[in-house]
Amino acid sequence: MADTSFDILIIGAGPGGYVAAIRAAQLGFKTGVVEREHLGGICLNWGCIPTKALLRSAEIYRYLKHAKDYGLSAEKIGVDTAAIVTRSRAIAKRLSNGVGFLMKKNKITVIDGSAKLTKPGEVQVEGKSAGIYQGKHIIVATGARPRVLPGIEPDKELIWTYFDAMVPKQMPKSLLVIGSGAIGIEFASFYRTLGTEVTVVEVLPQILPIEDEEIALHARKRLEKQGIKFLTDSKVIVVDKQKDQVSAILENNKGAKQSIVAERIISAAGVIGNIENLGLAALGVKTERGVIQIDGYGRTNVAGVYAIGDVAGPPMLAHKAEHEGVVCVEAIKGLKPYPVDKNKIPGCTYCDPQIASVGLTERRAKEGGREVRVGRFPFLGNGKAIALGEDQGLVKTIFDKSTGELLGAHMIGAEVTELIQGFVIAMNCETTEEELLHSIFPHPTLSEMMYESVLDAYGRVIHV
Ligand SMILES: Cc1cc2nc3c(=O)[nH]c(=O)nc-3n(C[C@H](O)[C@H](O)[C@H](O)COP(=O)(O)OP(=O)(O)OC[C@H]3O[C@@H](n4cnc5c(N)ncnc54)[C@H](O)[C@@H]3O)c2cc1C
Repeated sequence: MADTSFDILIIGAGPGGYVAAIRAAQLGFKTGVVEREHLGGICLNWGCIPTKALLRSAEIYRYLKHAKDYGLSAEKIGVDTAAIVTRSRAIAKRLSNGVGFLMKKNKITVIDGSAKLTKPGEVQVEGKSAGIYQGKHIIVATGARPRVLPGIEPDKELIWTYFDAMVPKQMPKSLLVIGSGAIGIEFASFYRTLGTEVTVVEVLPQILPIEDEEIALHARKRLEKQGIKFLTDSKVIVVDKQKDQVSAILENNKGAKQSIVAERIISAAGVIGNIENLGLAALGVKTERGVIQIDGYGRTNVAGVYAIGDVAGPPMLAHKAEHEGVVCVEAIKGLKPYPVDKNKIPGCTYCDPQIASVGLTERRAKEGGREVRVGRFPFLGNGKAIALGEDQGLVKTIFDKSTGELLGAHMIGAEVTELIQGFVIAMNCETTEEELLHSIFPHPTLSEMMYESVLDAYGRVIHV
């Protein structure tokens, strides 16, 4: 007879759920995870990983196109859409299987099916492992799904969500992307690099709306240079589907209308939490604007019920989900983890050029009443960037003028998604400019720009 009673029972095996399960097992809890679809959740199967595989194909294509710049020749460079998609899907599968291995290794019971809370401490599962399961502590980690805009309902053919955009049968000649957040911009970058005409429509005045204004402007200019068209302060108001194309009417904030015809639309207007059909309302679990309300330890307002990851609200990122899972389980154990500090969660967009940030933007720091010192360092002044053939970009740092506290870091350019972690650690250690100025950065590396940006904030920049 299979186990039905657990110390910790987790609903959803995305990065939040499976990492929480592993940490729970490490702490000696008898742990079960219910999953209705695939281990690894959106992140490994339809999010972070398969998109990075696609973007890698686009990146290599871009380099091949510029082979001459590096003294090389490459001829007859082509795009095999089916092979690109096959590679991306194989990588997703490999990682999902890897989670299966980790579950076994940690003696975590995987329960196949769809779960619903029936009363405190009890979950009903429908599907392959149907039955009633007990959990002293139940963690909801059910993730999120694409937000559907009224009148622009995805149909898998002409109007895509990220699911469809990840497995194109062929490259569309033209594409309208609705939404310029990380997901929209990554797809815009992927398709444009491989030759599609791309227009991005954004309802706000700034693309990448949560990023620092200066970085977002830099990104816009670079992406426009690659041929992506942006329509900001604008929204799609009507969509008319034809045989193999869509025409959309857009309206800007002054009421002016224009029509755009594209082969496909990608609707990337955000995601919403999977809070339905979980029995949350009957148990009195508080939800607001489509997500479960939690404290810094994943506790909901109902004892014994916790939530982590996308279903518990923004930023909807895999590393945030994983960290919330660890903190939640450690708090259940009675350890004393630090509560999750949302200001120190990095955000990355893996388009070309890459964008990465942590902490406050310059505007938000000022709005919060801080007097700031801002440092900037351009890629143009960095030897490694020039050697790589990647001399466009910027590293920007923001410090509190009176205390020297590092408030935020914002970057655009090659490999910045790998660099940002240096500043994340610095912020977690409550670093001031003093410690950063005493740190030695290896030469030649892109990381030297982080140092130079700090130097610039204090009037000591060297290489510009
Ligand atoms: C295209 C795209 C690109 C992305 N790129 C990045 C990136 O580069 N970096 C990054 O940090 N984030 C990225 N994200 C976001 C990231 O995927 C999510 O933040 C992350 O997956 C959230 O993890 P989670 O564990 O909260 O939920 P999910 O990964 O969504 O997993 C939830 C799981 O719960 C299961 N489930 C739901 N309801 C039930 C139920 N009732 N019973 C049983 N199982 C259930 C689902 O099947 C799913 O497997 C991207 C997202 C998308 C869509």
